[in-house]
Amino acid sequence: MNQATEQLKHHLAEIGHLHRAIALLDWDQQTYMPPGGARARAEQIGYLSGLAHARFISQDTLRLLEAAEQAAADADPESDEARLLANARRDFDHAVKIPAELAAEIAEHTSHAQQIWQTARRQKDFSLFAPALDRTLDLVRRVADLLGYPSEPYDALLDEYEPGIRTADVAAIFDQLKPALVEITRERSANRTIGPSNPFSGVFPAADQHKLTLRVVEAIGYDLSRGRQDTSAHPFTTNFSRDDVRITTRFDESRPDYALYSSMHEAGHALYEQGIPQEYDNTPLGAAASMGFHESQSRMWENFVGRSRAFVEWIWPLLADTFPSSLERWTPERFHTEVNRVQPSLIRVEADEVTYNLHILLRFELEREMLNGRIHVRELPREWNERMEAYLGIVPPDDGDGVLQDIHWSAALIGYFPTYTLGNLIAAQLWHRIHTSMPHLGQQIAAGEFAPLLNWLRDHVHRFGRKYRPAELLERATGEAFSPAYLIAHLRDGAV
Ligand code: ZN
Repeated sequence: MNQATEQLKHHLAEIGHLHRAIALLDWDQQTYMPPGGARARAEQIGYLSGLAHARFISQDTLRLLEAAEQAAADADPESDEARLLANARRDFDHAVKIPAELAAEIAEHTSHAQQIWQTARRQKDFSLFAPALDRTLDLVRRVADLLGYPSEPYDALLDEYEPGIRTADVAAIFDQLKPALVEITRERSANRTIGPSNPFSGVFPAADQHKLTLRVVEAIGYDLSRGRQDTSAHPFTTNFSRDDVRITTRFDESRPDYALYSSMHEAGHALYEQGIPQEYDNTPLGAAASMGFHESQSRMWENFVGRSRAFVEWIWPLLADTFPSSLERWTPERFHTEVNRVQPSLIRVEADEVTYNLHILLRFELEREMLNGRIHVRELPREWNERMEAYLGIVPPDDGDGVLQDIHWSAALIGYFPTYTLGNLIAAQLWHRIHTSMPHLGQQIAAGEFAPLLNWLRDHVHRFGRKYRPAELLERATGEAFSPAYLIAHLRDGAV
């Protein structure tokens, strides 16, 4: 890379240090900080975020970026240097369009809105949250207008999380998925009562679950010398470099499956971050290709690997050893059946692999229509319940378990939901390709040999970081353009 690019990288790395310090403050807030620290922590994070934003949209960045672009004008467009500069340019052009005052207004509003949302959810009363959501919609509409969009405001918001995909593309994908998902749900679920009920009885001590999940994430390749697992109210993955990638989980002593699968999910995210090349770390290439790609890695380990017969065969002796009395009357077959049960349920984060996507479809439709002004905020609970009935055959008893269940809208994360289903689609397409090139994958998983699968993901996905756009990366990895057919086939087959 030429000297001007090196100077730009150095400048961006300094801003990266600020972002990583913010991430560390946030990790601490969600894991160990005493509740009394909340107010000062919000100020600290707010201050550092403002500093990082101001530094990034400064004349210094522009000057260094233009110099590097000029010096690298003849670089191969496929080279790391050209791709790094293209990402830096894209990030810069987006960031400068959002005035610092608007960014601060959004940050302030969302921290307030999240508190209102928590109260409204506790009291199961959407009307308390409606004015805050109205304001959120106004703010994100302003962001969309500033960023610009090809055909509707939702395009601009979606593009922040999944570069290159349009709202119409997502709608077309769901048009294919919807009838198949409704049909598969009907076929595979035993009855249409509100589930899921807990099939387990007995106690699964948190300390034992902690040991077990650590063993599992280490077995699948999560490097604990460059990571650690803690507990938090909502499991997440964060990183402060590619050599310090942390995951969290939570333990429910009546459900051994929750922490097991959520740990595998987060470890899937962490394996991606740990697999990003050293030379990309803290540069515009040192991240996942998109949120959808990130989610494809977590879903692959959680669902495609973790719920397979082969994996249950491997983990069963460990499970039975860890919880001998609570799993006394269980068999690996029964465990496999239970963790693959399809049952319409009210809460997205508790949903099975099939119905999960219907929860996402509903949210995508509603946020798109709110943004386009076709649905008014006050109509949201009714619209929510009608669609729950139409897609899943069940209606929430109140707004707490309905329209108020997710944090996203209070955090102004509008346009984010589709990336969960895109993750499932990408995972299914990658999984199909992996199976074709690795005929012994099942036996390897059953024997606890996860390295061949991880190596495939390293070679075809992780090592490219953010060098390629999602569509390009998927095509390079699978030799095919994006197709929802693989997910439909996977869900139709049930668990294998
Ligand atoms: Zn995830």
